[in-house]
Amino acid sequence: MPFVRQHLIDPLSCVRCDSCRFVCTNKAITKIDGTLAIDFDLCDGAGACIGACDTGAIQSWRVVESGAVYATEEQAMWFELPPQQDFGDDAVSPQDPAVPCAGACAPATAQRPQVGKFRDSAPAQARVVANVMLTPGGTSEIHHVVIDLTDSGMIVAEGQSVGILPPGTDDQGRPHEARLYSVASARCGEAGQQHHVAFTIKRVVSVIDGQVYPGVCSNHVCDLRPGDPVRLTGPYGASFLLPEDPQAQFLFICTGTGIAPMRGMIEWWMRSGWATADRLMLVYGARTVRDLAYHDELALAAERGDIGLELALSRDPGKARRYVQDALAERRDRIARHLASPNAYVYLCGLVSMEAGVFDAFAAICAAAGLDWPAIEVAMRAEGRLHMETY
Ligand SMILES: Cc1cc2nc3c(=O)[nH]c(=O)nc-3n(C[C@H](O)[C@H](O)[C@H](O)COP(=O)(O)OP(=O)(O)OC[C@H]3O[C@@H](n4cnc5c(N)ncnc54)[C@H](O)[C@@H]3O)c2cc1C
Ligand code: SF4
Repeated sequence: MPFVRQHLIDPLSCVRCDSCRFVCTNKAITKIDGTLAIDFDLCDGAGACIGACDTGAIQSWRVVESGAVYATEEQAMWFELPPQQDFGDDAVSPQDPAVPCAGACAPATAQRPQVGKFRDSAPAQARVVANVMLTPGGTSEIHHVVIDLTDSGMIVAEGQSVGILPPGTDDQGRPHEARLYSVASARCGEAGQQHHVAFTIKRVVSVIDGQVYPGVCSNHVCDLRPGDPVRLTGPYGASFLLPEDPQAQFLFICTGTGIAPMRGMIEWWMRSGWATADRLMLVYGARTVRDLAYHDELALAAERGDIGLELALSRDPGKARRYVQDALAERRDRIARHLASPNAYVYLCGLVSMEAGVFDAFAAICAAAGLDWPAIEVAMRAEGRLHMETY
């Protein structure tokens, strides 16, 4: 019986960021009802999508009979990948040996969250509770938006993302697609209100040749008022999660609105009573101090000794530019100790551009400390201790 290896996307791990869809020159990746699927007939296995995927969701294959590949419509219905069917020794391995498995997996002790329950065609209905501008006087406008999920059926965990469906249609007349926003509160809810979930949303506006182009969803959400209805999809993400392990040590590195998942995670860790400054360090980059979201509450947590806080301001008036990788280099001894520990976790969130700087800093710090960074990176990824979410 002829078999083929079919490239698929794991809907549990996929955060619907669309990066794979944009890089696929064959247009083999399609989005149906908010879920990504790969068209077997169009996929030539070139693998550009693999490098584009932070979550490892794209590193999924199943061996199937050649006449019975999974259609994209069928993939779009999945909540998780189907198990590999047993074809005996005749079939090839589902994992492509040419592709090293560099995908992210969840920490072994993480709780399994709700994933993908609400799709674009049947979103959760919720209401805005609060909308506060966090960065007055800053160079970017960031809002803290709290949404009430009561009766919606949606349950989120810190580290996950939720899709927000803006009203209206695009210039082709199609309904706008959902945009993803990281959960910024802990699983116990914002300010102790169990069904309230917080988001940290930057108003996106581009100016090209003097023409102003406001981002559709971010502007919609930043203008919402208490009581306004909002339609949500997801939640998404099953790997960027906290371990339930009191021995865990954390290094959180973020820029801009990348603070959102870190805030939720820090809140949950502090509530667990396990948070101390020597086991939880946040490196937070922004342009100026006024662009830092949640600066007051983070500074307070640092003052209490719950977290270690390193700020990296790239446009602080009168000071040299400082980026997150500079802060890491300055704390090289602590970072080296952290990376060498089998209990160490690293979470990265924010601008795509910070990834290279952070990984170069890790490599340099490890080299100076006599540590093998490539081996540490492989082990951390395989054990669910290294997580990235950049956009
Ligand atoms: C996993 C994940 C988590 C995320 N978490 C967060 C978060 O916590 N907080 C957050 O703020 N963001 C987050 N994002 C980013 C967010 O999903 C959106 O991408 C962002 O808000 C922009 O969406 P938008 O609808 O406002 O812009 P869009 O309408 O999608 O526009 C995109 C860009 O194109 C420009 N543009 C629009 N129309 C035109 C035109 N005609 N010509 C030229 N340019 C144009 C816009 O100005 C904008 O810069 C996350 C993304 C991912 C993938
Ligand atoms: S998480 Fe990976 S598989 Fe999902 S849309 Fe993003 S790049 Fe594609």
